[in-house]
Amino acid sequence: MPHVIEQTRTVGVQTIQGAVLYGPRDIRFEEREAPRIVEPTDAILRLSATCICGSDLWPYRGISPVAEPAPMGHEYCGIVEEVGQAVKSVRPGQFVIGSFATSDNTCPHCRYGYQSSCVHREFMSGAQAPVLRVPLADGTLVATPDLPPADMIPSLLALSDVMGTGWFAAVAADVQPGKTVVVVGDGAVGLLGVLAAKQLGAERVIAMSRHPARQQLAREFGATDIVTERGDAGVVRIKELTKGVGADSVLECVGTQESMMQAIHATRPGGSVGYVGVPHGVEFHGEELFYTHVRLHGGPAPVRRFLPDLIDLVWNGKINPGKVFDLTLPLDRVAEGYRAMDERRAIKVLLRP
Ligand SMILES: [Zn+2]
Repeated sequence: MPHVIEQTRTVGVQTIQGAVLYGPRDIRFEEREAPRIVEPTDAILRLSATCICGSDLWPYRGISPVAEPAPMGHEYCGIVEEVGQAVKSVRPGQFVIGSFATSDNTCPHCRYGYQSSCVHREFMSGAQAPVLRVPLADGTLVATPDLPPADMIPSLLALSDVMGTGWFAAVAADVQPGKTVVVVGDGAVGLLGVLAAKQLGAERVIAMSRHPARQQLAREFGATDIVTERGDAGVVRIKELTKGVGADSVLECVGTQESMMQAIHATRPGGSVGYVGVPHGVEFHGEELFYTHVRLHGGPAPVRRFLPDLIDLVWNGKINPGKVFDLTLPLDRVAEGYRAMDERRAIKVLLRP
């Protein structure tokens, strides 16, 4: 009686297949309920591409515990399929990009440019799937001027998190024309931090990396120097390269104690650290920090603030952040993608639904 079983299973409940994390290194591609409009401010997107984030590796590696099976993915772009009745700024058929954090874009924090601290913020999940529900569609999504060509989609997808986060790191570190910048971390965010620093006019961009392929990409994105040493040795090398002064701006794109201290100690007195690596076990010693004279600013990037300008830069061919995707897989091979990033065989994995 397979036909009858099939009927009862699908009546009223549409399903999709997406990535779900069950526990350390246990990622499954499995069936779950299809997203649908829940609130009148929602939109449903048919995703053109999605990807795996460096921050997905924290729960994947068991460093952040997973209490229950978690639908994964928070980076997305695609075509609006349906909108709730209150949605005014996007309409079905448009190609849109949204941030990993939803925002109403009207509250005091949003208006101050900190949409990722929106009073109505939700962190997105479940984007490693073909269809996605986005709450607060009006304040979260930004449409492109037209439907993009296929080869532009990786760069537009990068804006959803990594490019926006790298950009915020540079802004938070107060990168300005003529300045000397250090980027700690050679993951996708760090590499795009290099690109952001270059775009914002930095004269010298020192990338810290010991991986030849990543060094090469850092140079393509605008790095002028590469430092392979880490920790205290890395700080000594930065001081040598800056005549003993330290860098004006340092982008911290990792989130470990070592990377944070490396960033702070590589910064000149009066300089700034922009930190966007989600801190894991990072602790500060107040008195030590006091005497560094270093300014710290960071947090979850307010990607929504930068989306219109970044879309413009990609649309006009000024930046190509999609180069960070060095492995593309069909979505159903998502587990392979996690392994490749976990083992650092891939910088960033793009998934095609
Ligand atoms: Zn808000």
